[in-house]
Amino acid sequence: MSNIRIGIVGYGNLGRGVELAIRQNPDTELAAVFTRRDPSSLKILTEGVGVYSVNDVADFKDKIDVLILCGGSATDLPVQTPKFAELFNVIDSFDTHARIPEHFANVDAAAKKGGNVSVISVGWDPGMFSVQRLYGSCILPEGKDYTFWGKGVSQGHSDAIRRVEGVADGKQYTVPVQAAMDAVRNGEDPDLTTRQKHTRECFVVAEDGADKAKIEETIKTMPNYFSDYDTTVNFISQDELNKNHSGIPHGGFVFRSGKTGVNGETRHIIEYSLKLGSNPEFTSSILVAYARAAVRMKNEGMTGCKTVFDIAPAYLSPKSGDELRASML
Ligand code: NDP
Repeated sequence: MSNIRIGIVGYGNLGRGVELAIRQNPDTELAAVFTRRDPSSLKILTEGVGVYSVNDVADFKDKIDVLILCGGSATDLPVQTPKFAELFNVIDSFDTHARIPEHFANVDAAAKKGGNVSVISVGWDPGMFSVQRLYGSCILPEGKDYTFWGKGVSQGHSDAIRRVEGVADGKQYTVPVQAAMDAVRNGEDPDLTTRQKHTRECFVVAEDGADKAKIEETIKTMPNYFSDYDTTVNFISQDELNKNHSGIPHGGFVFRSGKTGVNGETRHIIEYSLKLGSNPEFTSSILVAYARAAVRMKNEGMTGCKTVFDIAPAYLSPKSGDELRASML
């Protein structure tokens, strides 16, 4: 069987991660990279593969089996995913949870019009965490869900810090509160406020002569980002930030705490956890597995928009059903 030919649209953290993941999946190959920037300004890792303007994607209709869309969720994907879904099978990592139903409807209409399969909101949250939450609630209908994120870098909160007057650079980590997780693991089913679930740790490089007390106060009281959390602000040098905080680690925990038995006397805890050395590299690895699924589903005659909820796990694997039943059941 010929390899699955993948096109990458948008070459940022996820775009680079997809390129790396393709190298680990011998049934896939990188066909082309597309960007909105000057293609000659991008240096990709894979030799012999071209970088093209995103305006030329349609020319590759017969050369690409699936496009992995690596743009940002805020403004890129709401436009790019429906646009390309009509022409290609596509995968995206759209993570604006509140807008997923609207995004789904737009992409579904385009994919059905073009007779293609699209998979949206692929990643770890939404994505693998969503699958765990779904399994947990189906298996233990009487129970409670808990999701904790971290310890990990929040790009949005790091951007917010960097916009504060007097801040030269900064990074923000979301940290789950250990006592809250312990209470969940103990089956206490606690009701937790936002503040009780996560803390926020900031590492800030101040500009020369900046008022550090004012910076700290501005960060800690920032509405929507920090005011609902216990936040610590650590001032460090640019060298320290570069040396100790240059990675993009992340992770988290999904719990389902449930009960069975005549009077709910039997307790069960499901726990799924991720500790990620690189959020984008991990997310991209998931995107490539779902790209395989999209191509297979299209070859079986399916069309329209799907999410991780709609895709049976065997579609993600390069192995056949026979091989999976013999080696993994
Ligand atoms: P980036 O900011 O690195 O890249 C987004 C886009 O910006 C790229 O596709 C690229 O498009 C453009 N870009 C990248 N670098 C530059 C640059 N130096 N100058 C100008 N433009 C640039 O975002 P990420 O790849 O880190 O993340 C993309 C999205 O993935 C996020 O918005 C997030 O919503 C989602 N995500 C989802 C997860 C999940 O679990 N579902 C997990 C992690 C991320 P172009 O090449 O066309 O210019």
